[in-house]
Amino acid sequence: MHELSITQSILNISLQAAAQQNASHIREIRLRMGPFSGVVPECVQMYLDVLAKGTPAEGAKIKVTTVPLKVLCRDCGRESEIERTHIACPHCGSMRLKRLSGKEFMVESLEVD
Ligand SMILES: [Zn+2]
Repeated sequence: MHELSITQSILNISLQAAAQQNASHIREIRLRMGPFSGVVPECVQMYLDVLAKGTPAEGAKIKVTTVPLKVLCRDCGRESEIERTHIACPHCGSMRLKRLSGKEFMVESLEVD
């Protein structure tokens, strides 16, 4: 994943949202991402520190919420939410799973002044 371009779009979205709220400064940018979004939060923060210089988002902190991975079991046909570290159907233990989500990546909310 290209954190630089991702960070640029996060910044653009955040600046627009802040302008709509007449906010003078963004303190925190809350992101939601799936366990397979492939984005490294530390990299986003690092790029943001650079890109946001001179904008209302200067000094803003990135806060990430990881959303669970949704899967469909090909054996028992049930949908469930699982952790990335334990990839098996919680109902029957099958590993024949179809991934329904996990690549989400979005700006959830902002904390502004
Ligand atoms: Zn199952």
